[in-house]
Amino acid sequence: MAVDYHLEGQVAVVTGSTSGIGQAMATALVEQGVSVVLNGFGDAAKIEADRAAMEAKAASGARVLYHAADMTKPAEIADLIGYAKSELGRLDILVNNAGIQHVAPVDEFPDEKWAAIIAINLSSAFHATKHALPIMKAQGRGRVVNIASAHGLVASPFKSAYVAAKHGVVGFTKSCALEVARQGITVNAICPGYVKTPLVEMQIDDQAKARGIPRERVVEDVILAAQPNKAFVEYDHLAGMLLYLVSDLGASTTGAALTADGGWTAA
Ligand code: NAD
Repeated sequence: MAVDYHLEGQVAVVTGSTSGIGQAMATALVEQGVSVVLNGFGDAAKIEADRAAMEAKAASGARVLYHAADMTKPAEIADLIGYAKSELGRLDILVNNAGIQHVAPVDEFPDEKWAAIIAINLSSAFHATKHALPIMKAQGRGRVVNIASAHGLVASPFKSAYVAAKHGVVGFTKSCALEVARQGITVNAICPGYVKTPLVEMQIDDQAKARGIPRERVVEDVILAAQPNKAFVEYDHLAGMLLYLVSDLGASTTGAALTADGGWTAA
């Protein structure tokens, strides 16, 4: 992005940044000269190649590190935040992004899927924020951005754990924002509609085959049924929101749940 948000020299942790939205948010920060600690699962060689490629393109000598914390494990999350501080000397930005999904009726929802979704999509944001705030308070400035979802504001059937976790993230965002409002720290949630991640791409092909209808109809009638503008959210739309929130331009915005959902939650 061409705009300069004056973020050079800052340090960020982005959870779940080995793919999809988290990887795009980490890239946007690195392009602004922010050093980033990546996190998430995946093939070790691919993670290292992606990390090195991101660092090679970094602005102003920003560094890109990786920490393998499992977001279901509070001690590993504490270690991730401590690693950012010990390796990079500070922590200015925390993006709580890691998340998973499982779709099933409530009365058939597997207990272990419920527990994993609550742990990764909700509790990990608590644990990471808990350990990041003392560092940000000592610095007198900080930014926490939680990647929630349109499902943090409205519901769909068969996604009970995800909707409960994402509504929880929005509530957690508001409560934290009130606690640190006098300390130069903002806490906000971004609530995207459908983003065209590789997973969604595959769903389009599968649904087109299964239903015997063209890809465009799958997109409009099935995937984007709830999204009035009938267009996917692009990574850049989310990066723009993130960079606004973490820069000084976002200083007055706190406790907010900002939508990027093509009008979904207005309906
Ligand atoms: P993705 O599957 O591409 O990425 C998820 C990331 O989380 C990966 O890096 C994965 O390794 C990591 N992760 C999963 N479990 C983890 C664990 N236990 N510990 C550490 N890392 C773990 O998904 P995405 O679509 O990019 O989603 C990212 C976030 O955005 C999620 O919170 C999701 O709910 C939210 N979101 C996505 C969409 C969408 O349409 N894709 C819409 C709204 C909100």
